[in-house]
Amino acid sequence: CGIVGYTTDPGSPSSGALDVVLEGLRRLEYRGYDSAGVALQVDGELWTAKRSGKLARLEEALAATPPPAAATGIGHTRWATHGGPTDENAHPHLGGNGRVAVIHNGIIENFAVLKAELVADGVEFLSQTDTEVAAHLLNAAYETVGDLTEAMRLVSNRLEGAFTLLAVHADVPSTVVGARRNSPLVVGVGEGANYLGSDVAAFIGHTREAIELGQDQIVTITPASVGIIDFAGNPVEGKRFHVDWDA
Ligand code: GLU
Repeated sequence: CGIVGYTTDPGSPSSGALDVVLEGLRRLEYRGYDSAGVALQVDGELWTAKRSGKLARLEEALAATPPPAAATGIGHTRWATHGGPTDENAHPHLGGNGRVAVIHNGIIENFAVLKAELVADGVEFLSQTDTEVAAHLLNAAYETVGDLTEAMRLVSNRLEGAFTLLAVHADVPSTVVGARRNSPLVVGVGEGANYLGSDVAAFIGHTREAIELGQDQIVTITPASVGIIDFAGNPVEGKRFHVDWDA
């Protein structure tokens, strides 16, 4: 339902990823949700926390077990469509034994076919969501092509329905990759930091320079760059705009 992504250089004076991601999720709360979760990149590993219920429940869990400082992360508020509102079904969903984390808005219509294929290959599922197939497919695609953007492109071409997806990979530091089809995704362009959001509210506290993603596009942000391609792999010039409504 609500999606936030953030990356800055480790050691930069900008806020830590957890604060930026949680603030974004709070600003997206108006959309309604039943669960929330985050994934952070910490020293070549991913650190995740997720809870059903209000953001306050996630924040309690984070306060009880505070994550190490992180400069790159993603966060999600979920409105359940497939699988009840439980801790296990909250996003992020993980692939590759926790090496890759995925959050998703929308519905993957062909998830049952993809899930059957993955299960036949020996993949173990931990949730009842449609989303989890994307995490396992992305892990497998990354193992094959060794490039997270290309892996996301290959996976996106296999998914039917409506999706905004964001992913972080333990092996790809300071990078968040997103994809969208029939579901919105906006880039926030900062100074030495970049943002992704399901709408501009996700990053309006930090930047008003934005790029709207078109249909069937993949975006890759690092602290200093924003790259966009379409689902065929062609480079795309993003449409820049200035957000001028009051936060
Ligand atoms: N279909 C996904 C789920 O049920 C995502 C729902 C959403 O957009 O929050 O987990």
